Amino acid sequence: MMIRKDWRNSGEAMEAKAGALLAWYDAHRRELPWRAPPGERPEPYPVWLSEIMLQQTVAAAVGPYFRRFVERWPDVGALAAASLDEVLQAWQGLGYYARARNLHAAARTVASQYGGRFPDSEAGLRALPGIGAYTAAAIAAIAFDRRATVVDGNVERVMARLFRIETPLPAAKKAIRSAAAGLTPDTRPGDYAQAVMDLGATVCLPRRPRCGACPWSGACRGRAAGIAGSLPVKPPKRERPVRRGIAYWTEDGAGRVLLRRRPETGLLGGMMEVPSGPWVEDGPPPEAPPLEGAWAPLGALARHGFTHFVLELDIRTGTSAGAAPEDCVWAPIDALDGYALPTAMKKVVRLALAGRDRLI
Ligand code: SF4
Repeated sequence: MMIRKDWRNSGEAMEAKAGALLAWYDAHRRELPWRAPPGERPEPYPVWLSEIMLQQTVAAAVGPYFRRFVERWPDVGALAAASLDEVLQAWQGLGYYARARNLHAAARTVASQYGGRFPDSEAGLRALPGIGAYTAAAIAAIAFDRRATVVDGNVERVMARLFRIETPLPAAKKAIRSAAAGLTPDTRPGDYAQAVMDLGATVCLPRRPRCGACPWSGACRGRAAGIAGSLPVKPPKRERPVRRGIAYWTEDGAGRVLLRRRPETGLLGGMMEVPSGPWVEDGPPPEAPPLEGAWAPLGALARHGFTHFVLELDIRTGTSAGAAPEDCVWAPIDALDGYALPTAMKKVVRLALAGRDRLI
């Protein structure tokens, strides 16, 4: 849908909108651990770290991880000097582990190729691992006060409502981006980017926008038409397919369980797992035990939702004293917290230990 060109979209009106939002932000900004005090510009390192963590994860969940990371690795050089294992382990529970691998790779690139200083342009930032268009714009705006257009889910919602963009997503993205770009001011673009995000997170809420508290309520076309709550129009949801696999819980009789490191690339790359066979969508999952031996079904299914599919792991148990295969280790069961196990595998561990307790 085209945005009509009229006085409400004039340069002056856009400036007035940005000014009203910045005034609102000065009074109502969220206190977040990665933000600098009002009037100060934050260091690029915490901005970058928080933006990577905030990809796919809400601010409330990111807070404790962010604090732990900056306490342990206070600057990009310290993070670059850490091992990938340490970073993956500290990342446990945040999910989408490719972010942690990219974080580590980007820290090493900044430390070794840029003298420990982050590039200050969108193009320069995009050259680093794990930084796409959105993250580059957010870092450029917030850390370097560049006039970059930052469009995340919150901003999409606010723009679709403010300009009454009724085209369903994702087709509406172009109009939304152009509306967002037109509103971005030359002055304080970093604060402005954070202000729109805050407005979406605290006032222009997905189901019930609090229009009475909004600095844009007088200009908002979605509100005027009484349809704000239904914007942006989402495409119909597709059911996620189910993939099934078998996980093998093997103990060695000395309080240790067999864990395997997943390949570096692909889903959960570099993380540890309770060894599992292939995850398949059609037909029964193939048996692929990591060691020779007798395996018994535990009668427990670990279920975990990923973005594009749901995983169901049927758990088998067995005992073996054999040598661990090359990509595996025998891990002490009472020290499993020290291993980078993704949430799906923690569910397997919980179920296996509960089943074992039942038998004792
Ligand atoms: Fe969102 Fe309401 Fe503000 Fe419009 S007036 S931007 S719908 S909170």
